[in-house]
Amino acid sequence: MGEQPAERSGPPDPVRGPWRAAMRLALAEAGRAGLSGDVPVGAVVLAPDGRTVLAAGHNEREAGGDPTAHAEVLAVRRAAAALGEWRLAGCTLVVTLEPCTMCAGALVQSRVDRVVYGARDDKAGAAGSLWDVVRDRRLNHRPEVIEGVLAEDCARLLTEFFRDR
Ligand SMILES: [Zn+2]
Repeated sequence: MGEQPAERSGPPDPVRGPWRAAMRLALAEAGRAGLSGDVPVGAVVLAPDGRTVLAAGHNEREAGGDPTAHAEVLAVRRAAAALGEWRLAGCTLVVTLEPCTMCAGALVQSRVDRVVYGARDDKAGAAGSLWDVVRDRRLNHRPEVIEGVLAEDCARLLTEFFRDR
């Protein structure tokens, strides 16, 4: 993680503001990952109304001994199970950290309409930092991306986790 896009407290932010409540839920979910020694990343999937939480997930690589158990993958799987449908059309995935290549691929596959994330990941991010898999024009599905929602809170959780290790 490097420079975070500024999250100003002052005038309302019409782009990021509407997603702050959901990001707080993702942050709470991220906190659960830390309990098992997993890197604290959390995600929620919102229904097409942009409010109803269909599913949540946090990083469980250590907890489950599963290299693919990233927050986004777990949240997307659970949302699909809740809907009884693999296509998450109209849904929004909200995650505390910029998705990696695997998760970006899973998000494209899931057909979510929108990906909202907090902190950028300059070392492994695949939604605008190192790669932009999510918006690659060669793919037939390109979700909207909104970054920098509560970015400082999301980054702080990670910084504190690694500092305490
Ligand atoms: Zn990932």
